[in-house]
Amino acid sequence: MVNSSVMTISEVHLNVRENRYDYDAVVVGAGPAGSTAAAEIAQGGFRVLLLEEHAEIGVPLHCSGLVTPRTLDEAGVGQDLVLNHVVGAHVYAPSGRTLSLGDGQTRALVIDRVGLDRALVARAQERGAELVTRARVIGVEHDGAGIKVRVDRQDASTVVRARLLVGADGANSRVAHLLGMDGPAEVVHALGAEGTLPGAEEQHVQVFVGKSVAPGWFAWTIPLGNGRVRLGVGTSNGVKPVECLRHMLETYPAQLKGWQATRWTGGTIPLWSRRKIVQDNVMLVGDAAGQVKPTSGGGIYPSLVSAKLAAGVARTALAQDDLTERKLRQYSSAWDKTFGKEYRRGQDLRRVYTTMDDQDFDRLLALFGSKRLLEMVNRYGDIDFPGRLFQRLTKLAPALWLFVRGPLRYAPLWK
Ligand SMILES: Cc1cc2nc3c(=O)[nH]c(=O)nc-3n(C[C@H](O)[C@H](O)[C@H](O)COP(=O)(O)OP(=O)(O)OC[C@H]3O[C@@H](n4cnc5c(N)ncnc54)[C@H](O)[C@@H]3O)c2cc1C
Repeated sequence: MVNSSVMTISEVHLNVRENRYDYDAVVVGAGPAGSTAAAEIAQGGFRVLLLEEHAEIGVPLHCSGLVTPRTLDEAGVGQDLVLNHVVGAHVYAPSGRTLSLGDGQTRALVIDRVGLDRALVARAQERGAELVTRARVIGVEHDGAGIKVRVDRQDASTVVRARLLVGADGANSRVAHLLGMDGPAEVVHALGAEGTLPGAEEQHVQVFVGKSVAPGWFAWTIPLGNGRVRLGVGTSNGVKPVECLRHMLETYPAQLKGWQATRWTGGTIPLWSRRKIVQDNVMLVGDAAGQVKPTSGGGIYPSLVSAKLAAGVARTALAQDDLTERKLRQYSSAWDKTFGKEYRRGQDLRRVYTTMDDQDFDRLLALFGSKRLLEMVNRYGDIDFPGRLFQRLTKLAPALWLFVRGPLRYAPLWK
């Protein structure tokens, strides 16, 4: 349980020690990245303040909550957050062609995302991090050997000093912006909703691809069971997702007939691109660092892993009192070692994806319908590491690289 007796900013001030820093680390944003970083740094015996602008952890929700089983292991949370098991996907092209993936094994879990955020914050508190909610960071500046953070809390504004600042404040990171760090090179605007879909398959996601359906991205439904689904659509070329949703409902009457929304969400997905994620006394993690998979937009798993990588380096840097950019770059290197190759491949795949027209999508689905490829996809497909599957496929048929350079012109080679 999240401890509701959070400190007030004036109490934070009472805690100021002789030391000129109020905290060793201030973490901005109590999403999965921020609370994981806070928990891991606090576990090293450091004083950590976790600031969250909203009153309630996890609310408002901007997520469909589809994750791999390894994500829950990484989060260290129980199965009680699992709402449904997903065993496969039906992918639809605008031509009506369908590709069905899956071999009956659980490939993904649909989770209670608000519950996940709460569990992670509760753990950060158990490990000693202090949480302040309704606390919006509005200013950040370097302050000698540390950092000064201005926090707005209802009517009052105050300054907290720390040796390290972790910016985990999501896709539109104010921390990154205030410190002149690059934002994402590309974002997807997404609309999400939860509702009812009579006759929805209980254990398959539906994915709708096509330039005319969701330009630059895709649309989806994720089953919750008992005819309930989470539906979403994303675009990356300025077309409003709500317009795509209308078009999608008309294009796929059989798959979406009777859809009724009960709750709407939305948000920005910052797709990964190479950028600076540290500077003196500052680290960015999660969406704030653009650590989102460029192929699927999934960000929960990478934000958990990245927060742990960041916290590991932060603990050493705090212990050695060396918070220079040079030292903190160990985090960028560790990240690159863990995800760099995969994300660069993901970027290549995304480049191809954005050049494809509706006919190309039709050809692609036809191609993957071949027994050989389908077997490979079912065997090695992994939504956390799609690039690994692509690598295997290119080994099986190097001609796939020709596809990548000139999308799908060589389909017959794959039959
Ligand atoms: C519509 C949609 C659907 C998605 N579906 C999935 C999915 O199915 N699976 C998946 O893996 N990923 C999904 N994602 C991506 C996923 O939600 C994010 O990658 C993930 O939440 C990143 O975690 P985070 O901790 O970095 O950021 P966030 O979860 O965004 O947390 C950032 C926190 O910082 C707080 N904050 C922001 N600014 C300030 C400030 N100035 N001061 C104090 N606090 C601040 C915010 O209130 C928030 O609590 C989806 C995203 C969208 C938009």
